[in-house]
Amino acid sequence: MGTILPGTLKRCSLCQVEIRGLAGGQEQVIFSQGAPGTRAKLWARVCQYVKEPQRCLNQDVTQRGAVQVDDFYGEPPSFGPFEGAGALGGGEPPASN
Ligand SMILES: [Zn+2]
Repeated sequence: MGTILPGTLKRCSLCQVEIRGLAGGQEQVIFSQGAPGTRAKLWARVCQYVKEPQRCLNQDVTQRGAVQVDDFYGEPPSFGPFEGAGALGGGEPPASN
């Protein structure tokens, strides 16, 4: 269950991400890019890397729940493409003369 009242928003001053309280104790994390997600996804992508976790709203495992695999990799990350760079030029035949 969340700690944010339905209809209100809380912003993590460290991560700059907003968490919205929904009816029934649910919460929705508003990312700056992409679809809204869960606290677990927020933690997987942002909050686990923060240098001052005591200032982060999202460090309580009992509130964020278990992180799923696709919380890390389910959507393209917002920090740019990282695949393909090493995949080019691999199919050349050996030189012969
Ligand atoms: Zn945070």
